[in-house]
Amino acid sequence: MNLTLHLTDNCNMDCAYCLREKCPKDMSEEVLFKACDLAFSKGLRAGLCFFGGEPLLKKDLIYKALDYCEDKVKETGMKFDCKMTTNGSLLDEEFLKRAAKAKMGIGLSFDGTAQDVCRVFVGGKPTSSVVEEKAKLLLKYMPEATALATIAPQAVPHYAESVRYLHELGFKHISLVIAYGRKVNWTDEDLELLRDQLEQTCEYIKELFIKGDHTFVGPIYSKIGECIRDKNPAEKCHLGVRQMPVTPSGELYPCTSFIGDPDYLLGTVYEGVNDKKLIEISKRASTPETCVGCDLVKRCTNSCGCSNRMNTGNENEISPLQCTYERMLIEISDALGEELFNMDPAKFQKEFA
Ligand code: SF4
Ligand code: SF4
Repeated sequence: MNLTLHLTDNCNMDCAYCLREKCPKDMSEEVLFKACDLAFSKGLRAGLCFFGGEPLLKKDLIYKALDYCEDKVKETGMKFDCKMTTNGSLLDEEFLKRAAKAKMGIGLSFDGTAQDVCRVFVGGKPTSSVVEEKAKLLLKYMPEATALATIAPQAVPHYAESVRYLHELGFKHISLVIAYGRKVNWTDEDLELLRDQLEQTCEYIKELFIKGDHTFVGPIYSKIGECIRDKNPAEKCHLGVRQMPVTPSGELYPCTSFIGDPDYLLGTVYEGVNDKKLIEISKRASTPETCVGCDLVKRCTNSCGCSNRMNTGNENEISPLQCTYERMLIEISDALGEELFNMDPAKFQKEFA
């Protein structure tokens, strides 16, 4: 079973687009170990994602969870994998050695050259120079780590140069998302600029393709890959199937944007998951009304109940912004895919199939 452990609601950064309510609420050891037991309670493998707020504020809990789960592996014979999303500012050699031993997958939230536009420390100091050094340290121990950039409207002019910067820093996996939610306001001009930046990013991807550099640049790579593999993002989980969040107090919800809503409470680490309720919630999934009949219905992420809820308040309703973004992304990715295919069909197949 896969659980996302919200080890703390607190964070040492104060990002402009952050939707988390920062408050000093930390997970107790008791909840932590119960959550680990729950992860090992079903199936052949257990997965934990360390999350926050900023999870490295609770490094002690991460060390304890890793030791505990490694014992559970010996006891049960099950497989265990772990990952973490962090702002990186508290990474150090000791932690990275332990994380590398546990084969932890680390996603570093790092907005590249846009970092200081939105991501500042609590109190307002810029974070880019600290996180750049930490990124180098991370890559020394984990060359396969992922850079996760969130692009808000005010940072759009940095999109393409951020991809280049993160790649030159050494990241082989780069994933960019646009910022959503009540703290950001996308205008038509921002979206036009975003189109231009996505096209510039495609030019860079073309350069990488010609050089035979296999760096993954999401979401453009994913869109091309899904298209040629006929893989449908609409078949991805709607809610709670892949990764269930655990709050600091041990409550379970189907996905992050439902945390705190009693209507979606699925149980606790003490009682386990209420399967009946999980099934009932998953049955509420339906194609957003505005998507029925759209040619792109199987190509876009309209079925993500968590992001729909965050953007519109309704798990089955997609926001106009997301629809516009998905259309733009699919159009631009398809054009790039066609160009790369025409350039070298065999290489294209190898890269994306
Ligand atoms: S680092 Fe993450 S949790 Fe912390 S303020 Fe930024 S977005 Fe929010
Ligand atoms: S492009 Fe828009 S209308 Fe079409 S499926 Fe996606 S979100 Fe729905």
